[in-house]
Amino acid sequence: MIDTHVHLDAPEFDADRAAVLAEARVAGVDGFVVPAVARSGFAALGRLAAAESDVYPAYGLHPMYLAEHADADVAVLAGWLAGSTAVAVGECGLDFFVAGLDPERQRRLFDAQLRLARDARLPVIVHARKAVDEVTSMVRRIGGLTGVVHSFSGSRDQALRLIDLGFRLGFGGPLTYPRAQRLRHLVATLPAEALLAETDAPDQPLCGFQGLRNAPVRLARVVATMAELRAVPVAAMAIPLDANARALFRLPQAPDTTLG
Ligand code: ZN
Repeated sequence: MIDTHVHLDAPEFDADRAAVLAEARVAGVDGFVVPAVARSGFAALGRLAAAESDVYPAYGLHPMYLAEHADADVAVLAGWLAGSTAVAVGECGLDFFVAGLDPERQRRLFDAQLRLARDARLPVIVHARKAVDEVTSMVRRIGGLTGVVHSFSGSRDQALRLIDLGFRLGFGGPLTYPRAQRLRHLVATLPAEALLAETDAPDQPLCGFQGLRNAPVRLARVVATMAELRAVPVAAMAIPLDANARALFRLPQAPDTTLG
């Protein structure tokens, strides 16, 4: 299983990062896509990915950290993408939910990052809150993009429009809450090829773990919940999820453990 969105570089993991990775690996997580959120984190993420061969880095300028970004960071990001093993551009996007984030500046930075992704032929990892329609139209306008809208929480129509554009949709902790009926119905009925599993750790704790730090070990529970919602065995859910993640981020194939 691949955790397609996990902030392993976050300070919440500074004290026990190695143990968090080890615990997730024991639970069957054999890949971690880690999107940086600001220029200040690029170097440390690069070092983490160089040290851990199952950590796949992405670099981007996250809209919630708008105050930290300088316009010149886009050029710095372009340099990082050229000289690194990045599997994607991100985390980037639009957040019209959190107050005080200048929408125009968000749009400018997101547009620039979408162009970088297109030109570098990399997928893009998108954060979209109260902004799915605008994200979709920007992706369509620029063209030539693939990627994922992570922690998707839009409607079925919005999902299908993104899938038509070649995007996948990431789902994690929120779908483990029984009251999240609309989201659970969406996960139950979308084409399997469009789904990615993620934890977004340390954020978005699963049902039963509210208030605690989330961790990539919980990906197993996310995948099990998806399987339950789609009424298929866990293994039959894990196979397309793994294939989707490896195809989108062009990750190496998993060693085949079924053929002895
Ligand atoms: Zn994130």
